[in-house]
Amino acid sequence: MTTRRGRLRLTVYLSAVVLVFVLGGLFAAFQILEATPTAEIRTMSRTAAERLIQLRSEPATLHAALAAYRPTQLSITLYDADRQLIDASGAPLPARLIDHARERGRLTFVHELRDGSRVIGYAIVEGRPPSLRRLLVGLAALVTALALLVLVIVRHISQPMQALASAADRFGRGDLSARARITRKDELGEVGRAFDQMADRVTLLMSTQRELMANVSHELRTPLARVQVAIDLILDGVDAQAKELLPEVQQDLTEVERLIEDVMTMARFDLAQAEGLAAGAPLRREPVAVAALIDRAETRFRSLHAARALIVTRDADLPTLALDPALMVRVLENLLENARKYSEPDTAIELDARVTADRLTFTITDHGIGIDAADLPKVFTPFFRSDRSRNRATGGAGLGLGLARRIVLAHDGSIELTSEPQRGTRVVVSVPVDEPAGRAG
Ligand code: ATP
Ligand code: MG
Repeated sequence: MTTRRGRLRLTVYLSAVVLVFVLGGLFAAFQILEATPTAEIRTMSRTAAERLIQLRSEPATLHAALAAYRPTQLSITLYDADRQLIDASGAPLPARLIDHARERGRLTFVHELRDGSRVIGYAIVEGRPPSLRRLLVGLAALVTALALLVLVIVRHISQPMQALASAADRFGRGDLSARARITRKDELGEVGRAFDQMADRVTLLMSTQRELMANVSHELRTPLARVQVAIDLILDGVDAQAKELLPEVQQDLTEVERLIEDVMTMARFDLAQAEGLAAGAPLRREPVAVAALIDRAETRFRSLHAARALIVTRDADLPTLALDPALMVRVLENLLENARKYSEPDTAIELDARVTADRLTFTITDHGIGIDAADLPKVFTPFFRSDRSRNRATGGAGLGLGLARRIVLAHDGSIELTSEPQRGTRVVVSVPVDEPAGRAG
């Protein structure tokens, strides 16, 4: 992780180091290229001038000798001791340079030529400025190299930034498929991947929300249509028929009420989670005797389904725990209701409650239709109902398990479901026991 973190930093750092080395190297190269010829030209030209001045009494020979220098690096002008021009290899350099050679720069030399102690003349030598061309060529190479290097560095950094910016822009405009897809392993790659993951989550969330809306609307449609029919009948004066419909309408309204309550509870949990509150934030925890909780669920079940066999087994000394009693009862009720709905009326339903040192565990077992292995991972998804259960026309929106799971997780617990088609289903709910001291009978 740390190595990956530092990758971009390392790249920029190494680029800077390379830059410094390239600059330094080129500078050194110029120094060498420049210095060598300067010193060489100086000695070489002095020797040449001393030899040439000896020919001053033979102008033709001197001229020919000077002419021989024309194609070389040197331009030589000879003056006598009185500063009168003797001859030059090309265009003569002015006599004033004898005292002011510096004006012409580093490659102009003046040699005072002596015969013993007597000055016999001066030679003004100018090195051809090959080094200037070399300098220009070198400079061009340097600038090109630097420009390329900077280009590479800038591209290296800006390319993923652009990909990210454009992905963020498209995503912001509503294109949910927009992703940065940066495969690099440095910090920029990390940013890109974080963006893509965030986009995935947002997309999933939005599609879930959309689905939820569609499902809720769908669930509301049938009961509302029935209410509409009843009202129409009353308006048409067909009161007797309308009255027949009323119990059904009443049940529909109860179901709608329950659906809305379930959806809202679910939304409350999801919102709390999205806001990053501690799991269980929407809970109203209070000390609850677990035994009383079971009694409530059992009583309700028996009052609704008096004929159904429900076998309750439990530890003798169940504790008192800080739970949300209303929601925990809902969990038990939902699970018992599922066990009843998805099994034959002549089969028994079992509810077992056990407590260990650190966990309270409820197990609800039925011997019903079971769940196909392929459907098992989906049963906690809101509005999912297996084809098997649809065929039974049991009613229900498909919210019970999703809600149960949210409630149990908010209690820091777990819920597990095992099932075998045609054999039955077992759901195990377990929550931590935080206050072992609070045990009560
Ligand atoms: P609701 O609980 O909202 O009234 P529901 O019972 O269909 O409707 P869930 O309790 O969430 O919804 O269950 C989802 C689906 O999981 C059910 O429709 C059913 O297909 C399957 N299922 C749940 N419990 C059982 C069970 N005990 N046996 C067989 N299938 C089950
Ligand atoms: Mg259910």
